[in-house]
Amino acid sequence: MSKLKNKVAVVTGASKGIGASIAKYFATEGAKVVVNYASSKEGADKVVKAITDNGGTAIAIQADVSIQADVIRLFNEVKNTFGTLDILVNNAGIYNYEPIEQISAETFHQQFNINVLGSLFTIQESLKLFSEKGGNIINISSGASNTPLPTGSVYSATKAALDAITIALSKEFAGRNIRINSILPGIVETEGSHSTGFIGSEFEAKLVANTPLGRTGQPEDIAKAAIFLASDDAAWINGEKISVSGGIYGL
Ligand code: NAP
Repeated sequence: MSKLKNKVAVVTGASKGIGASIAKYFATEGAKVVVNYASSKEGADKVVKAITDNGGTAIAIQADVSIQADVIRLFNEVKNTFGTLDILVNNAGIYNYEPIEQISAETFHQQFNINVLGSLFTIQESLKLFSEKGGNIINISSGASNTPLPTGSVYSATKAALDAITIALSKEFAGRNIRINSILPGIVETEGSHSTGFIGSEFEAKLVANTPLGRTGQPEDIAKAAIFLASDDAAWINGEKISVSGGIYGL
């Protein structure tokens, strides 16, 4: 269990949900983990405690990824604490499903600023910390990128943009040994998917009915795929969009 031994990893949005699971699973594989959060200090501290109680290394750092000054401060703290960086997981994200009539400049920019611009800011800062040996970036996208659903136009657009960034940067990074890939989860049971009302809804039932493996995803389903992509097992995988969804097919 040491696929990420001594690697330093930043996981954005790791105070709960998929990000928290990735942080904990990375630590069990030997990574030193930076648990980023926006407002849930208590959640982030719990994730750090779970990791350190298990003999791992982790610190929590607050930063709103959509605010560039916060992101710069986050990576400065990473540098001061660990001196380097090996892995960035862009997981922080929000999903607002709203009909076309309700979309406003405010809700549009909120989703794009966190899901897209925030990832660009973190990638810019991570490049300054990756060593000459290279780096590894995982963007947590969504099946909604490939299969947009009604009322999800803006959210799906943010994730399609993130996937385009994955592919463009995989080419831009040529010669620098930096791998970048997108993970596209299907519906996953998290604090966020509970609070938006997806879990237990007809929407969830429809998604599960269209999932050959017949259940809702759990955060660890995504975390295990992230370990694979972050590890040398995936050394030849770059610029890919990988669905981790139980095989959900078109709705
Ligand atoms: P979640 O339970 O709502 O957790 C979201 C995390 O992101 C929290 O740690 C939150 O921090 C953080 N966050 C939100 N805005 C942030 C910001 N501006 N700066 C830094 N951190 C921020 O979400 P989730 O369901 O685990 O989803 C995680 C990712 O997976 C998202 O990118 C989402 O689009 C994607 N995804 C989820 C599903 C699903 O069904 N759950 C499916 C496909 C893709 P605070 O708690 O401090 O606010």
